[in-house]
Amino acid sequence: MAASLGGGDGIEAAELAIRAGLTRLGRSVLEDLLAADSGYRGPRADCGAGHQARFVSYRDKAADTVLGPVTLRRAWYHCAACGHGFAPRDAELGVAGQTMSPGLAKMTDRAAAAVPFAAAARLVGELAGITLTGKRAGRRAEADGQAAAAVIEAEAAAITGRTVIPLPPAGPLPDILYIAVDGTGVPVIGAETEGHAGKAEDGKARTREVKLCCCFTQTSLDEDGHPVRDPHSSSYLATFAPAAKFGILMAGEARRRGAGHIRQLVFLGDGAAWIWNLASQHFPQATAIVDLYHAREHLHELAKLLEFMLGDRKQDWLAARLDELDDGDVGAICAAARTFPLTGKKADDLDTALGYFEHNAHRMQYARFKSLGMFVGSGAVEAGCKAIVGQRCKLSGMRWSVPGAAGILTLRCLEASDRWEQILTQPGQTTAA
Ligand SMILES: [Zn+2]
Repeated sequence: MAASLGGGDGIEAAELAIRAGLTRLGRSVLEDLLAADSGYRGPRADCGAGHQARFVSYRDKAADTVLGPVTLRRAWYHCAACGHGFAPRDAELGVAGQTMSPGLAKMTDRAAAAVPFAAAARLVGELAGITLTGKRAGRRAEADGQAAAAVIEAEAAAITGRTVIPLPPAGPLPDILYIAVDGTGVPVIGAETEGHAGKAEDGKARTREVKLCCCFTQTSLDEDGHPVRDPHSSSYLATFAPAAKFGILMAGEARRRGAGHIRQLVFLGDGAAWIWNLASQHFPQATAIVDLYHAREHLHELAKLLEFMLGDRKQDWLAARLDELDDGDVGAICAAARTFPLTGKKADDLDTALGYFEHNAHRMQYARFKSLGMFVGSGAVEAGCKAIVGQRCKLSGMRWSVPGAAGILTLRCLEASDRWEQILTQPGQTTAA
């Protein structure tokens, strides 16, 4: 080895050769370990459905591991009542129905959550020296993500059903817990949009809405009195589920984050009615705030609607309304907009546009919220949408199945929430796929 380093090959060839040798050695150690238990559990074993399955013989199973491919020889049983065979040892090792070991699966999941499947397979090949196809990496990551989503769902149901009571957050209690909710579209394959109305010209949907929740805490203000988000305090969840089911997931997550212990809850959302219905159902005590950036967008639309009356004055008019919005003075905005004598469709459009402000007026008292030291914009959830959904699921040319996208988004939320180890290491959570 010293000769090869000196011979001009450089250190790269040496380090890779050493790793390959260690990997081969490790594989034989692993195979010995696996061979130490034959998986024989007596002449009969429980099939899982209440029957006694019969021992048949020893059979080989090939599995890919972090150390390369290994062959596992283990006892095989058959259940006459169910008509299926199985190896009890596979389930114990976490490889039932799988061709990847749990360790390799976790590497694959991490890569496939971060980048498109073909690139993920290349990364695993490059970094870990394991050859995978993109398709195989994607299938495994989507399935593991779906299994993780099921764990999170069960956790939320237990928390909201009060069978599990989360402890207060460790350390000093944060002052405010924010629950920010938003929705965004994910491009999906045709079969996923049947029966869903969409915005495309032919009236068909090209996307399905994923609902996102971001919880974060805030304890302090900066020198200028602006709120400061507690570092590393954001956790995310994303789902295609309908609002009612999303509500349970969201409530479970907020309680897990300390909603039952923290003094002040703030609910941030755009103006959508379903969000406020969930807020009042699950957290009626929370302060509800319409995200300021969404409200500003609606003012821009209002000015556009009145452009034909405003002419050159449009920019000044809009600036004055934006100031009123910052003050939380919805009354002044509506009064200014209603000075124009509109009739017919224009009048209806104006009523609709102002309805957004009128219905949400109590959630737009921005000056008051700011004086209380609260965030009034859900920048966290906006950024979360972009990073978690946009940068992985909305890349050019992507078309997802809903379960596939849901699985990958769950993995990305776990990563962003620093919960990967907590959720993905629960025994028996891997599905047979
Ligand atoms: Zn059976």
